[in-house]
Amino acid sequence: MFKDKPREACGVAGVYGAAESSKLVYLMLYAIQHRGQEGAGIVVANGSGFNSVRGTGLVADIFNADNLSAMTGASAIGHVRYSTTGPSVEKNAQPIMVEYIRGNLAVAHNGNLVNADQIHDELEECGSIFQTTADTEVLIHLIARNTGRDFLDALTTSLKKLKGAYSMVLLNDESLIAARDPQGFRPLALGKLQDAYVVASETCAFDLIGAKYIRDIEPGEIVIIDRQGLRSRRFAERNASEALCIFENIYFSRPDSWIFGHSCWETRRRMGIMLARENKHAADIVVPVPDSGVCAAIGFAEEVRLPFAMALIRNHYVGRTFIEPSQSIRDFGVKLKFNCVREAVKGKRVIVVDDSLVRGTTSRKIVKMIQQAGAREIHMRLSSPPVKYPCFYGMDFPTRRELIAASHDLGQIAEFLQVDSVAYLSHEGMLKAVQNQDRNFCQACFNGDYPVDFKKRREISGQDVKEKQISRKRISQL
Ligand code: 5GP
Ligand code: MG
Repeated sequence: MFKDKPREACGVAGVYGAAESSKLVYLMLYAIQHRGQEGAGIVVANGSGFNSVRGTGLVADIFNADNLSAMTGASAIGHVRYSTTGPSVEKNAQPIMVEYIRGNLAVAHNGNLVNADQIHDELEECGSIFQTTADTEVLIHLIARNTGRDFLDALTTSLKKLKGAYSMVLLNDESLIAARDPQGFRPLALGKLQDAYVVASETCAFDLIGAKYIRDIEPGEIVIIDRQGLRSRRFAERNASEALCIFENIYFSRPDSWIFGHSCWETRRRMGIMLARENKHAADIVVPVPDSGVCAAIGFAEEVRLPFAMALIRNHYVGRTFIEPSQSIRDFGVKLKFNCVREAVKGKRVIVVDDSLVRGTTSRKIVKMIQQAGAREIHMRLSSPPVKYPCFYGMDFPTRRELIAASHDLGQIAEFLQVDSVAYLSHEGMLKAVQNQDRNFCQACFNGDYPVDFKKRREISGQDVKEKQISRKRISQL
């Protein structure tokens, strides 16, 4: 069995057919760093073999001019990693790279396979020896054992056995392959840079390198890019069971990305407008919780015609390691990250807009800060419905027990946050704000309706699940 199996909410990127492919991947990883800050890696194919650099920490800390220049080759893939910490962080570094009967193979995966444990056990019983505890490794074993016609057949047959979320890029000696699960939980975009093809979790990566966004890799589609150009193959029917992660739109993706074919910035702005329409309240200013609440707050302020005030200032240089003073200072952690501009809120009725409430603990501290800065009233507005259920497809939510909305009603939440009022965007409002009305979204975190079944049902009730150190993670995004 997997121990400390990481739940991956990561980012992937790939380039085929560019002279400095590893440097382009490096830049793309830089752009999608928000999707994972625990580690990163690049694998490049140089014609006679693979080279790789992988490590823990931020992209800027792992790669440098020397190790990038040493990775020559025209095709490369990369990964930024965000997972629960475990003893095996190093060996789980991605892209996973192997040499097997068909040559070299590397895989970078974003998502979470819900049947990995089961496949893992079956393979182990048949003699497989696993090198990592990452769910992605099961795919490599499946491909290697599949001695069918060619690589593509082996891949297609293997992908059909996987359940759950995967947006992935694969590299072998001849080609770059991009694949997305039939539900299409996580995004995956295709672009072009002159004659080269590029693939990335988010289109903001294309903007950085000057590539053009062509389209998304479709749910249930495999795209193969090699000397002959680009080919596409389906391994699942179109739209049969689509379940795009709605939380990518709400929180996870960068607002300058196009997610599932639409501007994420615009979707968030529309969520703010909808939230304001549903929850008007007399006030003087609208204050976002940066960065995640900014787009919705813009829409909110626009709708209620109130001044938008950046009264919470965020320190962008908060790393994951800092030295705490030996005497305890109350609320130290959040003060390191946010400060409230007294002059902006003093004596005012303030509407605070954030994208979501998870545990409520950060928001509570922020509210206290605004109150101490002299606000007369504080009204908390959330641009998503109450998060009540954990995610099993790659979003790092805590257990049900820790999700404040799972066990508290609005009045209790207002009391916990110490605000004058609290209101959420309605479920219908959220669906109206989403621009691609013809698509189907996974909304499991809001309604508990899980589109792909998994065995560990007991996790939903919060039993048998490790405490997640959510506050320590994604510190740059909160
Ligand atoms: P809370 O007050 O619930 O402790 O924190 C709310 C903040 O958590 C919001 O600003 C929101 O942007 C952020 N958030 C939303 N989703 C996630 C997630 O999946 N992981 C983490 N760590 N934070 C999240
Ligand atoms: Mg936030």
